[in-house]
Amino acid sequence: MDYKDYYKILGVARGASTDDIKKAFRKLARKYHPDVNPGDKKAEERFKEINEAYEVLSDPDKRRKYDTLGPNWQEQFSPFAGAGTRRSYQYSGGRGVPFDFETNGTGFSDFFEALFGRSGVAGTRSSNMRRRAGENIDQPVEVTLHEAYVGGSRTFNIQSTEECPTCKGTGEVGNRVCPTCNGQGTVPRNKRIQVKIPAGVDNGSKIRVAGEGQPGIGGGPRGDLFLVISVKPDPRFERKGDDLYTDVQVELVKAMLGGEVPVPTPDGRRLVLTIPPETQNDRTFRLANKGMPHLRGDGSGNLYARMKVLLPMHLSSEERELFEKLARSRGVEVHP
Ligand SMILES: [Zn+2]
Repeated sequence: MDYKDYYKILGVARGASTDDIKKAFRKLARKYHPDVNPGDKKAEERFKEINEAYEVLSDPDKRRKYDTLGPNWQEQFSPFAGAGTRRSYQYSGGRGVPFDFETNGTGFSDFFEALFGRSGVAGTRSSNMRRRAGENIDQPVEVTLHEAYVGGSRTFNIQSTEECPTCKGTGEVGNRVCPTCNGQGTVPRNKRIQVKIPAGVDNGSKIRVAGEGQPGIGGGPRGDLFLVISVKPDPRFERKGDDLYTDVQVELVKAMLGGEVPVPTPDGRRLVLTIPPETQNDRTFRLANKGMPHLRGDGSGNLYARMKVLLPMHLSSEERELFEKLARSRGVEVHP
C-alpha cells in the first residue's frame, strides 16, 4: 500500500487554507472530470485521487489525522481489504450548482480506507447529495366522446429538455462555456410518442406516461408526463359520471301502438329499443351497461333513452278523418 501525498495531488502547500484547497480541487476536478474526458482511464484515476485528497483535506478531523501520520503509519492503523466499492463523488460545477454522479470504479484507495475505514466518506459529502426526480409535465389532450367511449391512442411530439450530451450537464467543456448548450447544461428534447387513451376517460382524467417528464437532477429519475383529458361535448348525449342520457324522437303512432326505436351510441352504432304500447312523452328507458365504460374496473354505466313523442304534421284528408274518428271515440269536442 502506497502512502498518498494528498497535498501534492492537489498541488497545495501543507499549510494551505481550506479556501485554497477548495479552489485547487475545483480547478482540478473540472479538468479531470470523467465527462470531460470520456474513456480516458488516466483522467478518471486522477479524478478519483483528487476527490480522495479533497475528501481528507477539506475535513478538519480527517486532515488532522492525516497530518499526524509518520513514516510508520502502517503500524498505527489496521488496513482494510481494499476491494472495489461503489462510491459517489460530488463535484461543484462552474455555475455553482452541485452536480452529483456515481462511478463504478474501485472507489477510494486502500490507503484511504486504511485510515478512515470504508465509511470514512459517509456523512460528509453524501449528506450534500441533491439527487432529485425531474418535474412532471402536464399535456392537455382533447378527445371526442366517441374516443372516450371506445378508447384510442394519440401520437404527439413532447418537448422537454435533456442533459446536454457535450458537457453532460456541467455547462462547461474544459474551462469554457459549453458551445452546445451555451452553459445551460440542458438541450431541448423532442420525442414522438404514442399513448393509449383508455376507454372511460372524462374531463380532468390524467393518464400517466412514466419517465417522459423533465430530466432529473444529479442523476435523479425523469419526471412523468401526464395527459390531462378534456372530452369534446357530443350534442346528442349528456354525461353524468359514467351514465349517458339521450333524447330519442318517436312517432306518435309508435308511442301509442308500441314498437322498435333506434337509440344511438357515441361510437355510431344504433341499439334497438322495444317500447310498449301507450309510451308517454318523456318516459325514460334504461339500456343497462351501454353507457361509458368504467375507467377503473370492469363494466360500464347505463344509457338512458328519453322518449320525445313527435306530433304528426301535414295530415292528409284521410288521416284527418281518422283523427276526427279518434276524437269522437274519446269524447273530445273538436272544430268544426
Ligand atoms: Zn452543454
